[in-house]
Amino acid sequence: MIDQLDELYREVILDHFKNPHRKGELAGAQIKVDGANPLCGDELTFYLTMSNGTIGQARFTGKGCAISQAAASMFAEQIEGKTPAEVTRLIEAMKALMQGHEPDPSIDLGDLESLAGVRKFPVRVKCAALSWNVVEQGLRG
Ligand code: ZN
Repeated sequence: MIDQLDELYREVILDHFKNPHRKGELAGAQIKVDGANPLCGDELTFYLTMSNGTIGQARFTGKGCAISQAAASMFAEQIEGKTPAEVTRLIEAMKALMQGHEPDPSIDLGDLESLAGVRKFPVRVKCAALSWNVVEQGLRG
C-alpha cells in the first residue's frame, strides 16, 4: 500500500518509520496508555510527562505497520509542549484530514500532513488514527 502513496508523502512516512522520532519508554511519565488496532496488528504505548498543564515529553513504543509507527513518531513529536486542549484541536484536524475535509488552517500539522494520502485507503486510516486515539484516551484519564 505504501508504494501507492504519493511520492512526497511516502518519503516522509518511510523516514519516520525507519528512523522514528520520540521512540522509547519514558521514565517518570505521568501518563502511560496503550492501544491496538487488531485489524492490522498494530500496537502502541504512549508515555507523556505533564508540567504546568502542558505536555512536556512524549514518547512511544510499539510495533506494527509503517503507517502506524510513522504516525506515532509524527504525533509524539507534534504534541510536545501543547496543552490537552491544543492536542484535542490537533486531533480534530487529523480526523478531518482522514475524512477528506480541509483541516483548520491555523493548526500546524507538521509532518502529520503527510498522512493525508492514507485516506485513500480506508482500512489504513485505523493504522494512522491509533496514535491519536490512544493519546486522546490517555488525556481523558
Ligand atoms: Zn497498520
